[in-house]
Amino acid sequence: MTRETRRFSATRLIHAGRGAEAEGGRPVNPPVVRLSTVLFDSVAQMRDLRRRRDSERLLTYGARGNPTAYALEDLVTELEGGYRTRLVPTGLAAIAQVFLAYLRPGDHVIIADSVYEPVRQLCHAVLDRYGILYDFLAGDGSGLEELIRPETRLLYLECPGSFAYELCDLPALAARARARGILVAADNTWGAGGLYRPLGLGADISIVAATKYLSGHSDVVMGAVTTTEAAWPALHAFSDATGSAVGPDDAYLVLRGARSLAARLPMHQAGALAVAEWLSGHPRVAEVLCPALPQHPGHALWKRDFHGTNGLLSFRLRDAGDAAAVRVVDGLRLFGLGASWGGFESLVTLADLGRLRAVTRWPEPHILIRLHIGLESPADLIADLDQALSA
Ligand SMILES: *Cc1c(COP(=O)(O)O)cnc(C)c1O
Repeated sequence: MTRETRRFSATRLIHAGRGAEAEGGRPVNPPVVRLSTVLFDSVAQMRDLRRRRDSERLLTYGARGNPTAYALEDLVTELEGGYRTRLVPTGLAAIAQVFLAYLRPGDHVIIADSVYEPVRQLCHAVLDRYGILYDFLAGDGSGLEELIRPETRLLYLECPGSFAYELCDLPALAARARARGILVAADNTWGAGGLYRPLGLGADISIVAATKYLSGHSDVVMGAVTTTEAAWPALHAFSDATGSAVGPDDAYLVLRGARSLAARLPMHQAGALAVAEWLSGHPRVAEVLCPALPQHPGHALWKRDFHGTNGLLSFRLRDAGDAAAVRVVDGLRLFGLGASWGGFESLVTLADLGRLRAVTRWPEPHILIRLHIGLESPADLIADLDQALSA
């Protein structure tokens, strides 16, 4: 060994092993590219890329995205049928991003009463604080005209709604909003890009909690916002200004999970329909809520606008009150007790519709048992529900 190779070189340590391009074919999956700094060949190139990066997707700094996240952005854009997509650390952050990118103090937003509950917290924590006004619209979309004011800038929908799956006529609402110059945003987490396409039905902005079906494996949280070309610049500028980006490892996990979305959704649907049918015939069950059931109030709209149902359904027991529902939930063995959904596993949680809605009145009892039907055998899940309901 020469003296040269034995000597420790801090410079060599930094410059060696940077992962030169391998010769040969291409890998199936995009590489996980971890980066903060991006290096430029010359000042001229650096200036040119920085000049163009506000309108084009150019790799210039980790906080503005990375190649792994770009690959996922393109996949979500494809699923949603949009112009471009921005990724955000969580689904809730994606909703906050939309509110802040499109609204300013003095503006008014109309929000579906059927929204995912933390959106109400977002209203108090953010909209109240910034002087942005809001009203809640019935989950079926009725009464929109009475809520519109000259300052209304955004109509924010979630269709179907959380826990009770209220459906609204998105094309009709979007047409009325468009006529008044109001943007329409829809939370499409339920549809996951596969079962519903809000942008194709007239929305300008579609939001997906990638945490749920897109990733599908309960191991990552992420949100995505996809827009039309006209709505894009405001979102893009706000996301860059606020330094909103996701890491390549998380983007890789979502990409990896998303590859099997088209295979998973029909399995979730088949399981949910089998469980819904069984529950509908159970003497202790007062009502099963799932838009794919003919008795659901939104069923006709679901048939018109959706391409199937997912693994979600809720039911109400005939015995009013919390205690009976708690006993059933605690008696389940295969269903995990926990929030969120969209992974491969079955979950259960309780919800109080009396507290989850601001303008909609629900018949008693208000306690719902919400199930997410995973990829287990439906017969085993039904047997589990059977023993928990008989106990
Ligand atoms: C879970 C959920 C979100 C939030 O997603 P997180 O990644 O958990 O923040 C948003 N909207 C709907 C409808 C959801 O179910």
